[in-house]
Amino acid sequence: MKKFKFSRINTIFCTVASLSLLAACSSNDNEETTIPETASALEAADLHLSDFNAQCSYVDGNWSSTAYLNNTMINTTQTNFIYAQNTKIANVFGQSAVTLKMVHDNTSPNSTYNAISYSNPKKIYFGEAIYVAALAKGQIVPAMILAHEFGHQLQYTYNLPSKPENTARPNELEADGFAGYYMRKPSGYNATWEQAGPGFEFAYAIGDNNTTSAGHHGTPSQRRSAARLGWYLGNYDLSASDFDYNFFYYYNNVLSGTYRTTTPERINPKIDAFIKSKMAELQKIKSGEISGDEFTQLKD
Ligand SMILES: [Zn+2]
Repeated sequence: MKKFKFSRINTIFCTVASLSLLAACSSNDNEETTIPETASALEAADLHLSDFNAQCSYVDGNWSSTAYLNNTMINTTQTNFIYAQNTKIANVFGQSAVTLKMVHDNTSPNSTYNAISYSNPKKIYFGEAIYVAALAKGQIVPAMILAHEFGHQLQYTYNLPSKPENTARPNELEADGFAGYYMRKPSGYNATWEQAGPGFEFAYAIGDNNTTSAGHHGTPSQRRSAARLGWYLGNYDLSASDFDYNFFYYYNNVLSGTYRTTTPERINPKIDAFIKSKMAELQKIKSGEISGDEFTQLKD
């Protein structure tokens, strides 16, 4: 978390000379920020004035100085699609949708290759560049990235993950798991693995090997195994905190190779039998024995 300093407002430039708009552009300069999805990530602030967003060139320090926000996600089709997904993802977890906006930057288009989930106020900013790249891999991929970001919203709401580490890894792997869960749920995206697998491979091969860096997201193979574990848990109806409990039970005690023979009471025997039957596969994904290509070709 970091906060902007008031002096930062001096750098704000809005092309519309309106006092109220200037105030709106700077009103969130002190908000809390969260984990960026890429190392080059910048950060954003909600302007709360959608009509003027495209005219105000300042978003916040996590995005470039020429970035701006609006509510149009590429085009009308994509806008309708992703807003419907935004509602659906939230509903699967018994939540209300959070504010969703797109970050554009016509001057440095590549600077928007990121998506960020904010805790206060709750909102998700989706960069245009990452949306376009994701969409090129299929319509399912932007939804998957959004589900990952909403996973962070669940973490804010329920004070998850329950197994924190010194890096962002458990937060990120659990968000990957939440996305896997949503993708499989019949009341969610209801995807087949044939549809979802290549999307996960695009979204989560973004993992890194900087295991001691604070922003460490997990290695690509860990991210794949986390998504696959979440996918399997999508066979069941779990609250966000039950998902967390199950996710880390299997992630820590099975994927790390120290599976406990005594199953805790909170673990449903049916789920346990099912996940146990998938353990060998999950471990091979995590170890890299199952490659990225093979990962995309797994069965449901
Ligand atoms: Zn994340």
